Amino acid sequence: QLSKAGWLLDMEKLILGNSIGEGEFGAVYEGEYMGKKVAVKNIKCDVTAQAFLEETVVMTKLQHKNLVQLLGVILHNGLHIVTELMAKGNLVNYLRSRGRSVVDVKQLLRFSLDVCEGMEYLESKKLVHRDLAARNILISSENTAKISDFGLAKAEPKSTDNAKLPIKWTAPEALKKEKFSTRSDVWSYGILLWEIYSYGRQPYPKMALKDVKEKVEQGYRMEAPDDCPPVIYTLMRSCWESDPSKRPSFRKLREKLEKEHRDCKSTSGS
Ligand code: ATP
Repeated sequence: QLSKAGWLLDMEKLILGNSIGEGEFGAVYEGEYMGKKVAVKNIKCDVTAQAFLEETVVMTKLQHKNLVQLLGVILHNGLHIVTELMAKGNLVNYLRSRGRSVVDVKQLLRFSLDVCEGMEYLESKKLVHRDLAARNILISSENTAKISDFGLAKAEPKSTDNAKLPIKWTAPEALKKEKFSTRSDVWSYGILLWEIYSYGRQPYPKMALKDVKEKVEQGYRMEAPDDCPPVIYTLMRSCWESDPSKRPSFRKLREKLEKEHRDCKSTSGS
């Protein structure tokens, strides 16, 4: 099925370079495939490789400027997953290492809009990401933000191992009743907005993981990050409505962010 679709790549055409990141299942390398700069993830464990092969099947069907593009897989020494190279790494490190003096508010808004557009595309395909967080957003050499890590993305959300859920990013109904939906992705998107406007801080700073779930259920919500535009904080809060049906769709969020982006003045040349 993969080879017919042209997703099966040739190990001999791959030039492997340096390690550029550490994933849960091993290192990520930069490389070149037929003249194109790529990132390569090698999964050696057979059981995990099988799960990832399923992930790549989802990815092969998706194409959007704000989703990290899968180029294909190589069946060699387990599984090699080959994606487009995102030269500036993940969004958390990008924001933490550069900070306010380099990244202006207009750029933050651009990243927010990029992710929202990618999610609007997934929403239109009725796919639920389930692990939307700034650590899973990668930045291209041209500063475009793209969504990666479709490991948990499923058309029909099945129950997962609760112990593995990213508690600080997951909507209350998804934590409690495993009700994952586009609207629970919207909750996570609100947390991601908070991460962006706080320049890569850990959400619910100083709060123990075990307290977050309970506090959030009782109605606690994070405060606005320093210097966060009120319009953006209002959007975050709408993403964190307890009732999922009261949260906006990605389409609605995108429309509001686009308007903001048009009105926003750049304060630096970055
Ligand atoms: P998974 O659960 O799929 O293993 P993970 O969150 O553990 O995901 P990876 O997706 O394997 O981590 O990525 C780990 C790090 O490697 C990322 O944070 C990023 O810095 C880097 N990385 C991953 N993919 C790319 C890419 N396409 N281009 C550039 N860097 C990447």
